[in-house]
Amino acid sequence: MNKALVALGLELDSDQVDRSIWLASELLDWNRRVNLTGISSPEDVISKHLLDSFTLVPVLERIFGAGRIRMVDVGTGAGFPGIPAKLARPDLKLTLLEATGKKVAFLEHAIEGLSLDNTEALHTRAELIGHEPGYREAFDVAVGRAVSGMGTLVELLLPLVRLGGWALVMKTQRELDTELQGALPGIEELGGRVTEIASASIAGYLEDRVIVLVEKVRPTPEAYPRRPGVPQRRPLSGRLSDPSDARPVGPVKNGGGVSVRAEL
Ligand code: SAH
Repeated sequence: MNKALVALGLELDSDQVDRSIWLASELLDWNRRVNLTGISSPEDVISKHLLDSFTLVPVLERIFGAGRIRMVDVGTGAGFPGIPAKLARPDLKLTLLEATGKKVAFLEHAIEGLSLDNTEALHTRAELIGHEPGYREAFDVAVGRAVSGMGTLVELLLPLVRLGGWALVMKTQRELDTELQGALPGIEELGGRVTEIASASIAGYLEDRVIVLVEKVRPTPEAYPRRPGVPQRRPLSGRLSDPSDARPVGPVKNGGGVSVRAEL
């Protein structure tokens, strides 16, 4: 892992490396009992979860320098990329958002085991929290990896981003080639503008990875995000096809998350 980190230009001290390894081994251990991730070999957890998550950090540094960052990781699963990003950059103020309860239980275990400060795990859906005061348009960064197609994901991310902040979408180059063009009208509708496709590959370790930088240039219309499941079923094509989709949703209930697996 160390060589790959050097290639990424990221310096982690031995404590940060030890805590990353703790996260990986707890994940592997829990995953034997609870299905948290499809990735089950130690090597793959290190490259596909830890290293891939760390590629976010240089992008954050490039955008914000040493400034404080409030970040939300939407559909974080077992905490990726949010927790490794927090380990590499301890001053992050981090919200982990996850719809599936058993994954939230792991997130709480990891937050406690790693003594992460300024980190919360919320068991809810992005479509709900995206309308909540204190969360809507409140984050400097909203990030998502492996949650859904680009068109759907931007509707989950951009409502949470403050004006002048960023949605960061982690994709493979292949996914980008098929998804970006169709997502552009929706991004515009949501108040975003794609400014850059940053390479997030690490030669010899991770190929074909990109991070799409979407700047929030206008407020997101109140209609978005639409009701739970709608962004997935009917990704935006630039205008609201069915106005009833936009009905505002009520306050987030604690533990109100529903499993979304069936809809994915
Ligand atoms: N980001 C993680 C997990 C990817 S799996 C990683 O890269 O490893 C996608 C996760 O997103 C699942 O755990 C699913 O429960 C969650 N998810 C999907 N749609 C969601 C939504 N609308 N709100 C919150 N979580 C969601």
